[in-house]
Amino acid sequence: MAAKLPKVAYFCMEYALESSFKIYAGGLGILAGDYFKGVKDYGFPMVGIGIRWKQGYGEQVIDKATGRVYDAYKNAEHPFLEDTGVTVKVEIKGRDVAIKVWRVKSHGTDTLYLLDTDLEENDGEARWITGQLYGWFGEERVAQEMVLGIGGVRALQALKLKPDVYHFNEGHALFAGFELMRRRMARGAAFQDALAKTRQEVVFTTHTPIVQGNESHPIERFMYMGANLGLTRAQLERLGGSPFNMTVGALRLSRIANAVADLHRVTANAMWKGVKGRCPIIGITNAIHLPTWVDRKMLDLAAAATTPKRKQALWDRHMENKRRLVAFVEERNGVKLDPEVLTIGFSRRAAPYKRSNFIFTERKFIEPLLKEGRLQIVFSGKAHPLDDNGKAIVEDILDMTRRYPGRVVFLENYDMEIGAMLTRGADIWLNNPRRPKEASGTSGMKAAMNGVLNLSILDGWWPEACRHGINGWKFGDGFESADEAVLDRHDFKAFKKVLSEEVLPVYYGDRARWTDMMTASIQDTREAFGVKRMLDEYYQRMYKRA
Ligand SMILES: *Cc1c(COP(=O)(O)O)cnc(C)c1O
Repeated sequence: MAAKLPKVAYFCMEYALESSFKIYAGGLGILAGDYFKGVKDYGFPMVGIGIRWKQGYGEQVIDKATGRVYDAYKNAEHPFLEDTGVTVKVEIKGRDVAIKVWRVKSHGTDTLYLLDTDLEENDGEARWITGQLYGWFGEERVAQEMVLGIGGVRALQALKLKPDVYHFNEGHALFAGFELMRRRMARGAAFQDALAKTRQEVVFTTHTPIVQGNESHPIERFMYMGANLGLTRAQLERLGGSPFNMTVGALRLSRIANAVADLHRVTANAMWKGVKGRCPIIGITNAIHLPTWVDRKMLDLAAAATTPKRKQALWDRHMENKRRLVAFVEERNGVKLDPEVLTIGFSRRAAPYKRSNFIFTERKFIEPLLKEGRLQIVFSGKAHPLDDNGKAIVEDILDMTRRYPGRVVFLENYDMEIGAMLTRGADIWLNNPRRPKEASGTSGMKAAMNGVLNLSILDGWWPEACRHGINGWKFGDGFESADEAVLDRHDFKAFKKVLSEEVLPVYYGDRARWTDMMTASIQDTREAFGVKRMLDEYYQRMYKRA
């Protein structure tokens, strides 16, 4: 089968392969890491291009004395890297920058190449291009993207890899498209022709329905940095507008694009409706790599949970996972949670639209539940290093941990290890973004397959999976409003109702039903949101030519 499939080169700024291999920040990297593990498991013909970040993403540090949150950068460990002996060059701001190509050899993948400018032969500024993931927005970001895109295409050529399709996972890799055009124009093709041919080999995945999350740059910056690769100002403007929007550029440089859930497809099509000459945007819902995130025993027990005895075994295994989480929290924070209490898990990047402190909207509602020991909550999540609003949300949650000691805890420096621990050991996975701003949300899939019940706004992937009261719960009923205060009030009212009238009574009063819901949650999601389904869809609908 594999021989007939197109060969794909996948470009992404970050890959989450192992918790300790800190070349990732969050959801985008988790998706890319799981993608490559799936590629290896099922033998798909694909190579990846990424960056060997010297320091990775900022580590979240909480000052215990003041309760303030800040970011620290440390040099990352880089296990599993193998020297390919290949170096390529890209001209950035008038001088040649050398880029070394490493190959990742881990149990997760062996077809991923990482680019690195931290070399003796480069000047100090050039060495720092691959220094910090998402550390900057301006010129430094463009330099990073030139390394990924232009350096990536040149690395593939030097490695003698000849992909049929170039997949840009997010707009960061867009300059790869410029390099493909430059090659054609150097051989005599006119702009229109080079564009038409390049479009035939590029596909693109868009991830964020937040306008500000879609990066843009003044065209002048591309010109003086050399990112234009010979394209004129007018040509650049035709591709990405002015200022140049990376998503718009990618939508015009690709033959097809996808959003990462079906609702996100609708949102993205509306969002980019005005972009003339863009490619179609289809929906391919994200998925996860089961061996990385899901407790194999829970999968097996759910498949066999037909008798009361077997259902009990499923519950017992869940309690083991929960006690592991309780022990983990005690070790990290010195707080002893009670394994008998309904435990809500919430770990997400602290971005305002995700409303991480939503549950504290009405203190008179939540306070008695916490104080009477009916509920406990484990939080984790970093803010983007440059997002002060996000940091304020984290500080607010930290304030709640002091107000409700032993009932509300915050695990510092969210990473894959914490993610795995929480999506196995909680009872409930809470997700309360402002619809429709959550593109997909793979943590809910991890939870669902571990029998951790989703309690979620109908956003991202959840409308595709939710059977209310059977495999989890929804709240908010898909309500949307541009007025955030109206939306927040509406959603909180709905949340209160489902928590107090459904979740709490079932947890404390009907364990058999809870266990049946866990079983349904696992059974309903294990294939539909597993990486194999996703890869098959990408090959069938994106990579294969019509
Ligand atoms: C799963 C995971 C994510 C992505 O989950 P979302 O639901 O999109 O927030 C991000 N970071 C870590 C560490 C994860 O494990």
